[in-house]
Amino acid sequence: MEAPALPFDGQERLEALAEISQFVVEHDLPVTPFVLEAAHDIVTGANPALAALTAARLADGDGVTTEWLEQVRNAYAARDGSAELLALIMRLEATIDAFSVTASAAQTATDDYNSALEAHVDGLAAIDSGGDVIAQITTLARDMLDRTREVARALARSERESNALQQQLADARAEAEIDHLTGLPNRRAFETRYNEEYAATRESGEALCVAFCDIDEFKRINDKHGHEAGDRVLRTVAQSLATISDDKCHVARHGGEEFVVLLRDRSLEEACAIVDEAREAIAARRLINRMTDVPFGRITLSAGVADVHAYHDPREALRAADDALLRAKEAGRNVVLKADGAD
Ligand code: GH3
Ligand code: MG
Ligand code: MG
Repeated sequence: MEAPALPFDGQERLEALAEISQFVVEHDLPVTPFVLEAAHDIVTGANPALAALTAARLADGDGVTTEWLEQVRNAYAARDGSAELLALIMRLEATIDAFSVTASAAQTATDDYNSALEAHVDGLAAIDSGGDVIAQITTLARDMLDRTREVARALARSERESNALQQQLADARAEAEIDHLTGLPNRRAFETRYNEEYAATRESGEALCVAFCDIDEFKRINDKHGHEAGDRVLRTVAQSLATISDDKCHVARHGGEEFVVLLRDRSLEEACAIVDEAREAIAARRLINRMTDVPFGRITLSAGVADVHAYHDPREALRAADDALLRAKEAGRNVVLKADGAD
């Protein structure tokens, strides 16, 4: 995957990162993807509305909290900064990695130095000459030993902190790959997985299929029952679809009311049958809006499935699955169709 374009050059990037860290620490905020993105948007001015609101809040003497940022985000969802967020996390991780290496190396060097010094001091003390010079040297060496021990303790502390921060960042990164409405992996997670599975199956010679699924006439659910009820239906469909997930089947939310399914080691026919079974299970359910007791009616989905290795590259296979999905819609919906192979 191509690296996202960085909005700043060298020195500016370091300054932006320092400002983001300072913002997070100053306001005692947790290191989460959401907070990092908000901090980025505020300190760099990428989201002018959020930056202005934050400045006004601080001028009023009120603190910046995660709850407040969430309220503002909901009101001013200005744009999708997730690509920058991932880039930020990756850069932070790289910085911490570099620091850990330095800290470990420094600690080993200090330990070696301490051992050597200790041996010398013991040796000096053992010389029973009673001379002032030797006594002074011994005192000096002991002072030095104390100081190097303090440095070693500080380094060990820093290393523990950097390990904890690394864990927090790993958690934040995993969090950034989850779709929060449905709990499924999101599009970014799917794309990473797709590229990995593509490379692995190309090498192993295993089959790989990709399915594009789309809920039929979902707009009508929103129009009739409202967006929140639509969200609940989306969650239910996602959970139902996710039951086909296993170590060879990866289900993700691609966006909106669209889902993607990756099936390894399944022929096109087998993959179609698995997705079709999920379609049938969803169509058989009779969902009711529990807020109003009004039935949602039958919820169905359509899908297009492609044999990935029948195409020149993964993008083309995904497009072919999407084309097959379009044909499924044109054919009257609630159906799973195979994509035609590459020309
Ligand atoms: P088709 O059968 O052709 O797919 O019809 P459709 O109505 O499903 O398709 P269309 O693309 O016109 O509309 C998709 C709708 O899905 C529009 C959008 O408001 C809704 N939608 C997308 N994401 C969400 C979401 O997260 N929550 C809710 N409630 N609705 C969503
Ligand atoms: Mg759609
Ligand atoms: Mg739809």
